[in-house]
Amino acid sequence: MESLSNLFDLTGQVAIVTGGASGLGNYYSQALLDAGADVFVVSRSERGWPELTEFAENRNRKVKFMSIDITESGAAEKIVKNCVTTFGQLDILVNNAGIQIRNNVLDYKDEDWRKVIDINLNALYFLSHEAAKIMTKQKSGKIINIGSMQSFRAGKFIFPYAASKHAVVGLTKAYADALAPYGVQVNALAPGYIDTEMTKALQNDPERNTEILNHIPAGHWAKPSELMGTVIYLASDASNYVNGATIPVDGGYLLR
Ligand code: NDP
Repeated sequence: MESLSNLFDLTGQVAIVTGGASGLGNYYSQALLDAGADVFVVSRSERGWPELTEFAENRNRKVKFMSIDITESGAAEKIVKNCVTTFGQLDILVNNAGIQIRNNVLDYKDEDWRKVIDINLNALYFLSHEAAKIMTKQKSGKIINIGSMQSFRAGKFIFPYAASKHAVVGLTKAYADALAPYGVQVNALAPGYIDTEMTKALQNDPERNTEILNHIPAGHWAKPSELMGTVIYLASDASNYVNGATIPVDGGYLLR
């Protein structure tokens, strides 16, 4: 058997991370830099840019930023073009940017439905489409879509979110099948309850917090770092024979 020591090494690779400057995207960017990749970070605001720059410099890696709303018309093409002009290549795409808007079913606004679907699904598709043009030509690449437990459950107050995250699973399978002959793998990661800013309100509501914890076999909210092994696995040669999968990283939440 060949040596497995470099299976997770991303040295010389270039990754795009949408929503990569803050929240979980910031951790994905750090993890990819730590594994050896250079990272092209996309977000609307410049939150988190200086810290990420310092993180990359300390590891002798490069990080570049692009401020853009990924739902703008033509954004996907601009992002991929800018990344390839900057770094000369694109090997990994992490479709992470996503939003959630809560409301009762009958009060749900059409514009909120459109916003959620536009970011969580349409932008993810358009970026995958642009990345695929590069990756199929070079006959290698990894697309990693970020799903959710709502990829498998019915979130009645966040049904556009649940619908978009279910669609991420379907698109991941279809794209994996279509791109496999070109040596490109498309997989998804479905995070469970993660201790982030987005979930602070839930954690601070004692009743909801207990309810959630009773539903998680692991018995605790995940630290963001607990997701990173799976992202690096999906970005690296270690997962070359894994295609079209959505991997829950949820402490067993979906088992109950
Ligand atoms: P955050 O809200 O903390 O981060 C979202 C990121 O996306 C920000 O960096 C934001 O940057 C960027 N973003 C949002 N909209 C746009 C846009 N239109 N154009 C460009 N960038 C955009 O969310 P999380 O880190 O918590 O979640 C990240 C992903 O993980 C999402 O897909 C979410 O559904 C998923 N997830 C999260 C879980 C959790 O517990 N936190 C659990 C399961 C899944 P800026 O505002 O500067 O544009």
